[in-house]
Amino acid sequence: MGKYEFWFIVGSQDLYGEEVLKTVDQRAREMAEKLNAVLPFPLVYKVTAKSNREITEVIREANYREECSGIITWCHTFSPSKMWINGLAALQKPYCHLATQYNKEIPNEEIDMDFMNLNQAAHGDREHGFLGARLRVPRKVIAGYWEDEKVQKRLADWMKAAVGAAFSRTLSVMRFGDNMREVAVTEGDKVEAQIKLGWQVNTHATGDLVQEMSQVTEAEIDALMEEYLRLYDLNTDRLDLVRYQAKEEIAIRKMLDREGCRAFANTFQDLYGMEQLPGLAAQHLMSLGYGFGAEGDWKVSAMTAIMKAMGEGGNGASGFMEDYTYHLVPGSKYSLGAHMLEVCPSLAADKPRIETHFLGIGMNEKDPARLVFEGKEGPAIVVSLIDMGGRMRMIVQDIEAVKPIMPMPNLPVARVMWQALPDLETGLECWIIAGGAHHTVLSYDVSAEQMRDFARMMDIEFVHITKDTTPEKLEDELMIKDLIWKLK
Ligand code: MN
Repeated sequence: MGKYEFWFIVGSQDLYGEEVLKTVDQRAREMAEKLNAVLPFPLVYKVTAKSNREITEVIREANYREECSGIITWCHTFSPSKMWINGLAALQKPYCHLATQYNKEIPNEEIDMDFMNLNQAAHGDREHGFLGARLRVPRKVIAGYWEDEKVQKRLADWMKAAVGAAFSRTLSVMRFGDNMREVAVTEGDKVEAQIKLGWQVNTHATGDLVQEMSQVTEAEIDALMEEYLRLYDLNTDRLDLVRYQAKEEIAIRKMLDREGCRAFANTFQDLYGMEQLPGLAAQHLMSLGYGFGAEGDWKVSAMTAIMKAMGEGGNGASGFMEDYTYHLVPGSKYSLGAHMLEVCPSLAADKPRIETHFLGIGMNEKDPARLVFEGKEGPAIVVSLIDMGGRMRMIVQDIEAVKPIMPMPNLPVARVMWQALPDLETGLECWIIAGGAHHTVLSYDVSAEQMRDFARMMDIEFVHITKDTTPEKLEDELMIKDLIWKLK
């Protein structure tokens, strides 16, 4: 993860005189200091801006400084917005307008016209908001008292989404092999993805990976085996098969790090020279924050890496997922998500087990080792990114993950069970109407609001399926959006 910070730019004007401006400056400093204690990234107070020149200069610098991952603006006093036009028209970083107020209460005895002139964010933030709307500049608006926990949490979440955007713009994805033959939804326009999302998606030969594997030493494998056995329970006596996964992981990681890639995709149809499809290897790499997509799905791989980077501590509980099968009993309807092998242990409720089992699909010569576990309970989202031809569409669905309702002792892979919102059938109808893929990123700690923020920052279409969505409303929404995106 890189170095990320946010700039706090406070609007004002010269009319107020030295005394008021000094107070505004002191308060802005105090607010940044207090917010810094609770926000996940530094908030750097830059300026109380009083002129077109000051605003243009600070925004030019924000565009240029790599560590500046976004700006947060607020108008303590009135700040005539024509002086913001040149700056905001040039802005290239994520932008959040915090509509707040220094004081929490209207002080009954103290309030007079001087107090009103100093504390007129209600007035100033409206002028500032008009210009954002007039310029049609993508922005997040968060309103509320700055010391309220809820406001701080939303600001923190927006920051994480902005970090996801910054991460996205520097992301490289390594592809081993092409897309799974004949599959449509995992395809996509890599040039469009790079223009909009910044991703460099390039292919590397499976043969180069096999070559890299041949260079891995027994000592390197011993060290990684030690880590596996510290993190996971061993539930197989085929240590040779587990060691083979360690060898694959070490080789993949070396190639990723050498090329500066934070995500990779592979396909079971192109394992030439490898004895096992990477299972445990891909799972453990995901737990370290690397994105992964199976069957050549570079889009889901990139999104996995980004959503991990957006999550708690820069590596949250988000992982590659696939909708597999349903339980359709009235009163007990669930989706079962899993994959052939590759489910990230950050989704696990308990300590995962290393197991080895036969895998019929693909070019496996030997039984691949994989982690088997149950997913956590709780509210979560699933996210799919699809290429609509000319634009990317992000689909987010709210889900409620549950403890799997049965043990499924013969299922040899990690599994997550959930109820889609509003309910299985309606949610499924909505998902299919929107064109959502079978591959998703499932996340317990990135919210739909954060994904909406991310989509706004990257200028891609956003569709959210919630408890209130109906297929009819969604169909109309998609028809209108289709027109809008063709006109854009
Ligand atoms: Mn799949």
